[in-house]
Amino acid sequence: MQTQILEQMESNVRTYSRSFPIVFTEAKGARLTAEDGTQYIDFLAGAGTLNYGHNHPKIKQALVDYLAGDNIVHSLDMWTAAKRDYLETLENVILKPRGLDYKVQLPGPTGTNAVEAAIRLARVATGRHNIVSFTNGFHGVTMGALATTGNRKFREATGGIPLQGAAFMPFDGYMGKDVDTLDYFEKLLGDNSSGLDRPAAVIIETVQGEGGINPAGLDWLKRLEKICHDHDILLIVDDIQAGCGRTGKFFSFEHAGIKPDIVTNSKSLSGFGLPLSHVLMRPDLDKWKPGQYNGTFRGFNLAFVTAAAAMKQFWSDDTLERDVQRKGRIVEERFQKLATWLSNKGVPSSERGRGLMRGLDVGTGDNADKITGEAFKRGMIIETSGHDGQVVKCLCPLTISDEDLLGGLDILEDSVKHMFG
Ligand SMILES: *Cc1c(COP(=O)(O)O)cnc(C)c1O
Repeated sequence: MQTQILEQMESNVRTYSRSFPIVFTEAKGARLTAEDGTQYIDFLAGAGTLNYGHNHPKIKQALVDYLAGDNIVHSLDMWTAAKRDYLETLENVILKPRGLDYKVQLPGPTGTNAVEAAIRLARVATGRHNIVSFTNGFHGVTMGALATTGNRKFREATGGIPLQGAAFMPFDGYMGKDVDTLDYFEKLLGDNSSGLDRPAAVIIETVQGEGGINPAGLDWLKRLEKICHDHDILLIVDDIQAGCGRTGKFFSFEHAGIKPDIVTNSKSLSGFGLPLSHVLMRPDLDKWKPGQYNGTFRGFNLAFVTAAAAMKQFWSDDTLERDVQRKGRIVEERFQKLATWLSNKGVPSSERGRGLMRGLDVGTGDNADKITGEAFKRGMIIETSGHDGQVVKCLCPLTISDEDLLGGLDILEDSVKHMFG
């Protein structure tokens, strides 16, 4: 495989190609094919961007038809039939059946664009600047979003420009399982001398993705919502990775029965790997003046088309939801067995997650890299997350066949046993 030009020309900043230094050409469902014809089972799936797999035939057909008809591709934020169908589908298939009432902002197409817009909106709507985020949270790498992101590696990449306007609180479980970390947050809010500037908003991932697949407890999330209400603080759920069905519901916060004031989605929102993000906001929060937040790629018509097709295909009934829950239990059980096996071998390990967003914590990044590196040799793409990269994370397509799901889990088990047996 010819990789010389890639190694020479692409900046050092590249990441995933270091774990998987081969050239990929084709993909279908949960399988990737490299240039030499080798097939890989994909448990990374664009870090949660390909919840419906690669090149889903129905979604692809909608896109091909749209292109073949010379329909509009770029329109700034002008009205198009594709945008209308997207909003109508979002309203009728996703929001209304869940009793949710939101207006939609279409910022630039990436996740961090949506987070920037969401926290800016919270500031515009409240007139306050402070955003509370949580330890191990990841919200993107543009300055505003980065200020709410915990990871030191990313934070140090500003060249010393201070990251401002955010305060970190301990995430659920951060102080051990016997401490309710919200006691601390509530105490600070109630104390005029705590030093915590009154927040405009709290931003949270209900299951932290990059931070190591850490699910917040459902009662903890309910309490967080109540604290926000009691103190007139907006609750932003960053559902960029955990949303679009990953946890077994379209929105990850549905499990806790909470209603955030603002929601961000991206990654799997387009359903096809095309760039798309949106911010959902309680209608009365829409304090934007026309054009006060702009961008050239606000709403990408091709992504509207695939997103609408995906919502119609997968969210008109609960078939996918139930399937995700079933597959999630399969992964949970297999990861638990591996954690027990590793622990017995002197590698203290544990399993956690929600739905098909699951992690196997093997203690250190070195241990996790050994497993994912061996899995790659055996035909599987799987990555790590967490503060030290110590968590092997399962983000396989939700639509993965049972054969590929079990095949991938077998490869992982063989890799663990090979490296630590
Ligand atoms: C990936 C991610 C982002 C950033 O999205 P980009 O498209 O990479 O900018 C923000 N928040 C969460 C929870 C994410 O997983």
